[in-house]
Amino acid sequence: MTARRPLIAGNWKMNGLRADGLDLARTLMAWLTGEGAAVQARADMLVCPPATLVAAVADAVAGSPLAVGGQDCHTTESGAHTGDVSAWMLKDAGASHVIVGHSERRTDHHEDDDLVRAKATAALAAGLTPIICIGETEAERDAGQATAVVARQFHGSLPEGATGTSVVIAYEPVWAIGTGRTPTAQDVAEMHQRIRAEARERLGDGADALLILYGGSVKPGNAAELMGIADVDGALVGGASLKAADFQAIASAC
Ligand code: PGA
Repeated sequence: MTARRPLIAGNWKMNGLRADGLDLARTLMAWLTGEGAAVQARADMLVCPPATLVAAVADAVAGSPLAVGGQDCHTTESGAHTGDVSAWMLKDAGASHVIVGHSERRTDHHEDDDLVRAKATAALAAGLTPIICIGETEAERDAGQATAVVARQFHGSLPEGATGTSVVIAYEPVWAIGTGRTPTAQDVAEMHQRIRAEARERLGDGADALLILYGGSVKPGNAAELMGIADVDGALVGGASLKAADFQAIASAC
């Protein structure tokens, strides 16, 4: 089996004015090259600030091990799309990754798998690594449909030509996001195993290299257990990524 280097990604969502965002990024950068050097040796760390701060944060951490990503992108390179940001613009601003298909976008902006796949395809074309989010709602889990929904989203959102190293998957049960609730370790293990099995159908042996992150109420207190699960290759962290100490503690648990 290919050794996978875990990724700890922070999704700042719609949080952060310039001073606070830069301060957080600089604190993380200093930690990674100092006290957190042992973590840096075994895992990658990424922050995804709001679009307004991607360039400033990328400039502030340039040359350091801290990577920067966007939270969404359009499906095309440029054009008449007021308010949108393209993957090429994010790349130009210094990003290496972009989150696509987060459940908040699937809900707030009615994004479906076809659109998410088009965004992920654009990200690849621009030279970014898309972090493709999938996950069931509570009603779907209660109805026993969780794995079927996640498998459908995985296949529907994965771009043609994706490889195990060109994309990242984030399994984020919708009911666990921002709620303080998490699935049991066994449920997480089963879902990640299932996603890797689905990935094997599409990517062949490349599925061994695919990073499958867990997201949804990852905190310092549960990170060690979650990150210790087979087939969990890191975390997509929302609320707890806004505090340097919490995000560092989560990364340290990896
Ligand atoms: P949370 O968010 O860690 O605040 O639950 C995770 C996410 O939405 O990516």
